[in-house]
Amino acid sequence: MRHLTAPYILTPEGLRRNRIVTVADDGTIVEIRECHNPDREDSVEWYNGVLIPGMVNAHCHLELSYVRGKVTPHGGFAGFAQGLRAARHGVSTDQMTQAAELWDNTMWQAGVEAVGDVCNGSLTFEVKRRSRIHYHNFVELYGLGQHNATEVRKLAEQAREMGLSATPTPHSLYSLRDEAYADVIDSQRLSLHFAESREEVDLFSQQGAMWEWYRSAGFEAPFIGQYGSPVERLLALTPRNRQMVLVHACEVSHEDVKAIESHFEIAPVWVVCPRSNDFISELRPPVEVLRECGSKVAVGTDSLASNTTLDMMAELSAMPTVPLAERLQWATHGGAEALGMEQSLGSLRVGTRPGVVLVEGVDFESMQLRPGATSRRLV
Ligand SMILES: [Zn+2]
Repeated sequence: MRHLTAPYILTPEGLRRNRIVTVADDGTIVEIRECHNPDREDSVEWYNGVLIPGMVNAHCHLELSYVRGKVTPHGGFAGFAQGLRAARHGVSTDQMTQAAELWDNTMWQAGVEAVGDVCNGSLTFEVKRRSRIHYHNFVELYGLGQHNATEVRKLAEQAREMGLSATPTPHSLYSLRDEAYADVIDSQRLSLHFAESREEVDLFSQQGAMWEWYRSAGFEAPFIGQYGSPVERLLALTPRNRQMVLVHACEVSHEDVKAIESHFEIAPVWVVCPRSNDFISELRPPVEVLRECGSKVAVGTDSLASNTTLDMMAELSAMPTVPLAERLQWATHGGAEALGMEQSLGSLRVGTRPGVVLVEGVDFESMQLRPGATSRRLV
């Protein structure tokens, strides 16, 4: 048994003081009790920070870890997509696997318990099979040349045969034809890159850098002109009973969020990736709109093609206007909801094994993260 305490503990009700968390050897939380001088109790480990449950990185592409440092930041969305294609050349499979392994371990040490990870191939499956992190693999259908989801269904099956959790998912509304999108949305839970950039929205009204790129490359995208916006296409093509995990959404309005949330029977989870948005387009996630709408929010790092680290604390530090307790809930319980794991992960609750993580570098007066705030796993 270990008894852990800190000035603040994140409970399902918010940040609380004077609590001791008792954890069994197998990581199960056996008790959370109030105690007025927890730092003076015998055999209590006292930490100067905030204790939170293990975090859930709700949007990552572990297989792109080898691209770190190879794409020029702030090049805009079309520039990023083209830069990523170029960066993939001349790297061995071993180098790719080693990068994935390194960042899997880094996330574990920093207190990440589960990851919603997008896969375009089987590169990371073996790393994940050995990892202590629980991955849900969103096996992604991508490309205007695709007509069905047969290949990604096979890839998801391959992952499941290795004991991994995996389901097919569509990449986005700008990269798939109607018939391919319709064929890949069998699963109940779908993760979708959505309204990430102005260029993506403008494509639907036949203008902007992405439209210019599609046109000059001669891409066939029959949905352009047929649907007026990504929102319109999403609602036209997606059945109401899906659990949507909508990633980025930098370009959504209040009305867009309301229209989407009234279409789906289950509230979507919106995944914000502030550092990736800044890296690619110097955009910000729509945190004010989502908070006004009372939406469910989770946090993702996205990939190392559009980020410098897979560090959930750095993501939270990039959203200083949101109260700290709320940001910490997004990074834990919100992520668990995005993956359908909220019964077992994302909250410090007796009888569960969510992991226990220490957040260091908190200014308790302003209740803000100081520059360089970090997290590390205790349990
Ligand atoms: Zn992504």
